[in-house]
Amino acid sequence: MKRPTGTGRTLERGAPGFDDAVLGTSFNARDPGHRPRVLVQANTAADVVAAVNRARRDNLTISICSGGHSWAQNHLRDGNLLLDLSRLNAIEVDTDNHVARVGPGCWSVDLDTRLRRHGLFFPVAHAPDVGLGGFLLQGGFGWNSRQVGLGCENVVGLDLVLADGSQVHASEQENADLYWAARGAGPGFFAVVVRYHLKLHARPRFCGMLAQVFAMQHLEDVFAWADAVGAQVSRNVEFQLLLTPSAMGIFKPGIEVLAPVMADTWREARAAVAFVKHNPLRRKASFTTPLLPASTALLSWAASFTHFPARMHWCADNIWTNAPIADLLPGIRAVADTLPPAPSHALWLNWYPPARRDDMAFSLEGNRYFAVYGEWKHARDDARYANWATEQMTRMSAHGLGSQLADENLGRRPAHFMAPANLQRLDSIRAARDPDRRFCSWMGRPDLLQ
Ligand SMILES: Cc1cc2nc3c(=O)[nH]c(=O)nc-3n(C[C@H](O)[C@H](O)[C@H](O)COP(=O)(O)OP(=O)(O)OC[C@H]3O[C@@H](n4cnc5c(N)ncnc54)[C@H](O)[C@@H]3O)c2cc1C
Repeated sequence: MKRPTGTGRTLERGAPGFDDAVLGTSFNARDPGHRPRVLVQANTAADVVAAVNRARRDNLTISICSGGHSWAQNHLRDGNLLLDLSRLNAIEVDTDNHVARVGPGCWSVDLDTRLRRHGLFFPVAHAPDVGLGGFLLQGGFGWNSRQVGLGCENVVGLDLVLADGSQVHASEQENADLYWAARGAGPGFFAVVVRYHLKLHARPRFCGMLAQVFAMQHLEDVFAWADAVGAQVSRNVEFQLLLTPSAMGIFKPGIEVLAPVMADTWREARAAVAFVKHNPLRRKASFTTPLLPASTALLSWAASFTHFPARMHWCADNIWTNAPIADLLPGIRAVADTLPPAPSHALWLNWYPPARRDDMAFSLEGNRYFAVYGEWKHARDDARYANWATEQMTRMSAHGLGSQLADENLGRRPAHFMAPANLQRLDSIRAARDPDRRFCSWMGRPDLLQ
């Protein structure tokens, strides 16, 4: 993504530069053909209030973008008011109280870099330019989240602009309904977040990664092993398997077994990832790296360069699953056999959530997460690849529990993404707080499944 430049403006449809400004809000370079009636690039919370009031006056619905990383381009709708919050990106760090106040347009890597100076930590996203705006609303599966919790569990307050144009603070004590909803509603949230208040952690002294690479012919063995050891993996290791048409170091289809780890000492980190180094399949591996120290920022930029380059066209989809590995392997093999060209990839994340979470809208997860990311360069290939992710996850959905909002594809494949009781409660809060449905919501809902 490009960083926003200059002072934000209001652009009416048809104005010079309108299309570029609208499409420039999206990490996904696909043009879905939808255009708002007006684009408001907010510079302040007061601009947001003015935009909401204009939408009420002109009877327009509102869609919102902060970092623009919705794979599904949830903010690109027809004939509405699009609110671009990328300029609301200020960061204030209160080192005494371990709290940060952050604008929704703030990039993940910017908060991470700022906190590093103070020996502090927040579980930001794994790609540098993901905006905290959308990341924290959908859950927020950040660095070390298995240890310190989801991003949204570390939100202690939000400054909001509501559908009637009023400004409120939401926390456990104030406007608790909005606080409950903001932690998990994702693109279905019905207010504008203009500032987050975040709880910070002490930064672990060691961060690094160990990798092991296998040719694709070993897929079934590698997944069976990963599945067998998954439940025992230490919570400070983000154990994952990445299927790619051009694996690191071997430049052919393969599986990257990755073990990023954060710990207080190198020795502790080494012990936590030893299960990869000494795994029974290691002789089949093309190579295993040592545990290499690397900052979260460096790992994020490396992931961005290798797997999430800019100006690409994307389709993504996912499932949470607790199904037996034997039931999943045919689907995983089909994904491997049909991956669009590199850097398209699929991710198997060993998640195993904690036994209890806060009471909040976020309420659906499983022990393992499987997501597919198809990417291609040219619009001429849109028709060829656009449905690939949907087809793969439709095939595997019978073995899934539902979908994660981070990589949602609800417009093409409606799926469950929240416990039914939580969805019902969220709907009733929306009815009270946004009775005219001023704010756009998810592009598809589980109700559409019936
Ligand atoms: C390359 C890449 C890497 C990613 N890595 C991770 C990861 O490591 N972990 C993870 O959990 N997710 C990850 N994601 C998913 C990402 O967190 C979600 O797509 C998230 O919604 C992006 O936030 P954003 O502000 O950048 O996106 P946007 O597209 O700007 O926002 C997505 C939606 O959130 C809502 N929204 C955004 N800002 C506001 C606001 N201020 N007020 C109210 N509603 C708002 C809107 O409905 C909007 O359509 C990644 C996505 C990409 C493309």
